[in-house]
Amino acid sequence: MPDLLGETTPGAAEVVPLDGGSRAYTYAVPRSLLATLRVGHLVRVPLGNRVRLGVVWRCPADPPEGTRLRPIASLEHEQPVLTPDVCRLAEWMAEYYGCSFNSVLETVLPSAVRTGVRPVLRRMLTLARRPSDEDLAALRRRAPKQALLVDFLAAQPGPVERNKAAEGLGIGQSAVDGLLAKGIAAEEAKVLLRTAYDDPFAEAESVPSAGPALNPDQAAAVASVAASLDRRQFRAHLLFGVTGSGKTEVYINLIRKVVAEGGSALFLVPEVALTPQTVGRLRSRLADLGAQVVVWHSHLSAGERFDAWMAMALGQARVVVGARSAVFAPLPDLRLVVVDEEHEPSFKQSETPLYHGRDVAVMRAKILGAACVLGSATPSLETWANAQAGRYTLDRLPSRVDDRSLPAFRIVDMRREALHAKGVPLLSRELVDGLRDRLAKGEQAILFLNRRGHSRALVCPSCGVSAPCPHCSVPLTLHRTDQTVRCHLCDHRAPAPQACPACRSPDIRWKGHGTQRAEEVVAQLFPRARMARIDADTMSRKHLFRQVLSDFRAGRLDLLLGTQMIAKGLDFPRVTLVGILDADLSLQMPDFRAAERTFQLLTQVAGRAGRGALEGAVVVQTFQPASDPIQFAKRCDYEGFAAAETGRRKEFGYPPGRHLIRHLFRGRDPEKVAFIAERWVREVERELPGAAEIRGPTDCPVARIQELHRQHVWYLVPAVAPFLRKLAPLRERLLRDDSVADILDVDALDCG
Ligand code: ADP
Ligand code: ZN
Ligand code: ZN
Repeated sequence: MPDLLGETTPGAAEVVPLDGGSRAYTYAVPRSLLATLRVGHLVRVPLGNRVRLGVVWRCPADPPEGTRLRPIASLEHEQPVLTPDVCRLAEWMAEYYGCSFNSVLETVLPSAVRTGVRPVLRRMLTLARRPSDEDLAALRRRAPKQALLVDFLAAQPGPVERNKAAEGLGIGQSAVDGLLAKGIAAEEAKVLLRTAYDDPFAEAESVPSAGPALNPDQAAAVASVAASLDRRQFRAHLLFGVTGSGKTEVYINLIRKVVAEGGSALFLVPEVALTPQTVGRLRSRLADLGAQVVVWHSHLSAGERFDAWMAMALGQARVVVGARSAVFAPLPDLRLVVVDEEHEPSFKQSETPLYHGRDVAVMRAKILGAACVLGSATPSLETWANAQAGRYTLDRLPSRVDDRSLPAFRIVDMRREALHAKGVPLLSRELVDGLRDRLAKGEQAILFLNRRGHSRALVCPSCGVSAPCPHCSVPLTLHRTDQTVRCHLCDHRAPAPQACPACRSPDIRWKGHGTQRAEEVVAQLFPRARMARIDADTMSRKHLFRQVLSDFRAGRLDLLLGTQMIAKGLDFPRVTLVGILDADLSLQMPDFRAAERTFQLLTQVAGRAGRGALEGAVVVQTFQPASDPIQFAKRCDYEGFAAAETGRRKEFGYPPGRHLIRHLFRGRDPEKVAFIAERWVREVERELPGAAEIRGPTDCPVARIQELHRQHVWYLVPAVAPFLRKLAPLRERLLRDDSVADILDVDALDCG
C-alpha cells in the first residue's frame, strides 16, 4: 500500500461525482497530476467505499481546513471532457431552471462519455523481424498460413489491423498467435477514432466550393457580427431575415472568419436530420480551410458520440452542427454560437432539465465573451422584445436574394366552401384548380396538414358517444393504413371499431381529417400525380426522409404532403404552390401562443414556395380569415404582427413582458392532485405575498396522460432567479408527497 498522503502536495481540486453527484467534494491532487489536472477532466475518485467517475469542477480549490483529503485515484482521459465555461453554464442552468444539479450534469455530459467508454483499441500487426530464406521455406511447409501472413506483412508500408489481416487472408487467429509466439510478428494496441460519426451525411458533397458574393444587406449583417467578434466581448445579434433572404450565407461567412482566425464555432439547428443540405453546404464551404465539421445528432451510436466528443475536446473539430444538446460541445476557444430558426419550439427540451437550447446558447456566449447570432424570419416574441429593447443587436435582411418576390397569399374562406359543397371539403376549389394548373405545367406543390393519421375522433350520430384514449383525455386517431386507432400521446393502439362501442350502431363517423385521409382525397382527384406523404408515421426512419426529399428535388415527385416536418428550412426551387389545408388547427390550440405559432407556421410554410426563378403562391384554407395571424402573414408583416400580439400579451400579463413559470402537479389520484396543488398555492400566497402573479391551480388542457391526472399553476414574474430562490425552500418543505409529483417548467412553451 503506497503512502497516499506522502504522494500528494497541498494541491486540491473539487470534483463532482457523476452518479448521484449533487455536489462537489474536495480531493487532494496527487503529485503526478499536479501539472496536468484541469477543470473538466474526467477522473476516478473514492467516494464512500467505492471508486467513481467524476468531473473536476474547480482546480485548484481551497482545501477545507482540518480535514484529511482523499486523493484523486486516476485520470480517465488526457483531454478534459467539459470546457470550464460549460461547468459554469451547468451551475447557471441548475439555478435558473430550478432543477437538480445532477440532472443538469447528465444533460451536459453525454452518457457515452459519462459511462467511461474507452476509445476503441485496435490491435495492429507489424513484421518484427524478417525470417531467413531457410526458415521461411520451412514455415511454408509446416505452417503455410503463417507464411502467408509473413508475406503479407512484409508487403505493407505500415502496421495493419490484426482482424482485417486475418480475415482478408482467410487465416485463423491461431496462425497469427503462432507467428507472434515465434517473435516474427509483433502486435501493439492503438487508439483509432471511429470516423463513422458523419456517416448519415457521407453523400453530402464536401468538394470545396466558393459562396456567392454577398448582397449589401448580407454584407452589413456580416460586418455587424464581425465587429462583435473582433471586440471579443459578448454580444447577441438577432438576424431577422425573411425566408430565402440568405441567412445561412451570413452564418457561413462568420463561421469561416472564426475558423480562419483559429477559433471554434457552434451551429445549432432545430433538427439535424432535416438539414442535410445545410451540413453539406457547410462542409464544402469550409473544406478549403481544412476545418473538420462534426455533426452531432440523435442517431449517433455511443461509440460515435464518444469519438465526436473527443474530436471536439481535442480541438480536432472546430465546427459543430447539431441540435439542442450540441450547445454543450466541448469546443476550445469557442467564439461564435449560431442558433438558426431560433423561434423553433424544438429547442426546448421536454424532460428535466426543461432548458431552452437558444437561451442556454446565449448564456454560454455570455459566459465566454463570445458572439451569438439568433436567426429567424419569424423571431419568437421574446427575442424580438430583447432586440427592441436594445439588449440584442438587430441585423436585418429585408428581401429575398436576387429580389425574388415573396409568394402571393390567397386566403380561402372555408365557410363559403362548406356552403357550396354542403359539407367541409378537404380541398377548396381554389386549391384544386391551383394543383391542376401546377401539375399540368410540370411544377411542384407542397400540401401541409399538421395532423397525422387518417381521422381524429370518432363520433356516433345515434348516441353521441366519442372514443377517447382509455389512459389519456384525448380522442383516439384512426389510422386506416393498418385499421387501428391510436393515442398520439401514449401510443395506445387498438383495432379500429367497426361499430359504436356504446350502442353498437354501425353508422359511426370520423371527424377531423389527417394526412392519411388527405392522401386518399388527393390521389382520387389526381390519380397520375406522383405524391409522397411525410409525417411521423411514414418517416420513422431518417434515411427514408432523405430519400423522399432527394426524389422531390430531382423532380421524381410532383407533390409532397405532410405535417410540420416539411415546414422547416427546406429549399426546393421548383415548388410554386403551397397549400395549407387547415390553418385553424394551430389557431385553436389551447395555448396563449396559438396566434404566434400560427403566424410562424404560415410564414415558414409559405417560405417554401417560390424559392427559385418561378413565382410562388400560397393557398390558406381557414374558417377565420380575418384573424390577426392570417392577415399579418398574408401581408408578410412580421413587425406589425409582433407589435399587435405583444400588446395583447401585455394585457394578460403574459411573456414576453414577464416570464412564465409553469408548475405542474401530477398523480394517479385526481382529488389528491387537486388538494395538494390547492394547498400549495395558498401557502405560496401566504408566505411569499406579491412575489409572483399566480394563476391556478387548474386542470391542464390535457387533464390526463397515461393515467396521470394533471394540474398546473402559473407564476408570472419579472425575473426568474429571485423568485425561484424564494420558492425553493418552500418546495423543499411542503412538496414531499410521493404520490403527487411536481415539476417546474421555467419559460414554459408547452402548456398543454
Ligand atoms: P435563408 O437561410 O435565409 O432561408 P439561404 O442562405 O438558404 O436563405 O439562401 C437561399 C438561397 O439563396 C440559397 O440557395 C443560397 O445559395 C442563395 N443565396 C444566398 N445568398 C446569395 C447571394 N448573395 N447571391 C446569390 N444567391 C444567394
Ligand atoms: Zn352510439
Ligand atoms: Zn393515451
